[in-house]
Amino acid sequence: MCEKVMIRWDEEYSCYDVEINDPDATVAEFEEACQDLFSGAVAYRRYSESCLGCCICCSERIPVTRIDLLRVYELFHKNDEWDERDFRKWAEGISEIKRIGGCVDVTLGVDECSICRFWVREKGICSIYQARPFACRSYLCAPMSRRFEELRSQIINMGQDDLVPQLCEDVDEIYQNKNAFAKVNSYGDIMIKDICSKRLWRQLTDHRKD
Ligand code: SF4
Ligand code: SF4
Repeated sequence: MCEKVMIRWDEEYSCYDVEINDPDATVAEFEEACQDLFSGAVAYRRYSESCLGCCICCSERIPVTRIDLLRVYELFHKNDEWDERDFRKWAEGISEIKRIGGCVDVTLGVDECSICRFWVREKGICSIYQARPFACRSYLCAPMSRRFEELRSQIINMGQDDLVPQLCEDVDEIYQNKNAFAKVNSYGDIMIKDICSKRLWRQLTDHRKD
C-alpha cells in the first residue's frame, strides 16, 4: 500500500477522497493508490459490489498523455528499437485529434459504437489492461471528491499540453518548457506538487502536521 498518497472513503460526503502525505509523492504513486483501492475486500462502487464489465467507462472520452501512448507503444513494440518517427505515426493512428476553436483534444480512438478501440467486446475485457492510460487507472467507478476529480483533471490537462505540440506542429509550444511532463517518460518521474495549482496542493496536504 502506498503511504504517500492516501485514498479513503469520506463518510460525511459519501465519496472517495485523496490526501497527499509526502511532498515527493509522484503521479505513479497516485495511480498505484487508485488501483490498490479495488484490490481490497470492500469498496463503494457506483453500480455494484464488483465491476459489471458493462464498459460504460470505456465509452467515455479517454484523454491521453505522451506517457500513456508510450506505455501502449512499448506493449506492442517490446523488442523494437526506439524510433521517434515511428512512435509519432503510430500514436496518430491510435488516437483521435479533435480541434475545437483554438483547443486541441487528443483521446484514444473509438470503434463504430463509440467504445474504446482496445475494448474486446466478445470477452468484455481491456486488451491493453497492463498498459492502460492514466485516465482509466484513476477512474474509480465510484463517487469522487471534488479535489480528487480536480487532481485527475490537472494531471491529464498538463499531459495534454505536453502532447499536443508534439502531434500538431502548428500549435504553439507555450506551455512545453514549464511542463512537468517535458523530457520524462514515466509517471514515477513526475511529482504531484509540480502538476497541482497552489490552491489544490494546499487542499491535498493541509492535514499534514509538519
Ligand atoms: S468500472 Fe466500468 S465496466 Fe466496471 S462497472 Fe464501472 S463503468 Fe462498468
Ligand atoms: S484503454 Fe482499456 S480500460 Fe481504458 S478505455 Fe480503453 S478498453 Fe477501457
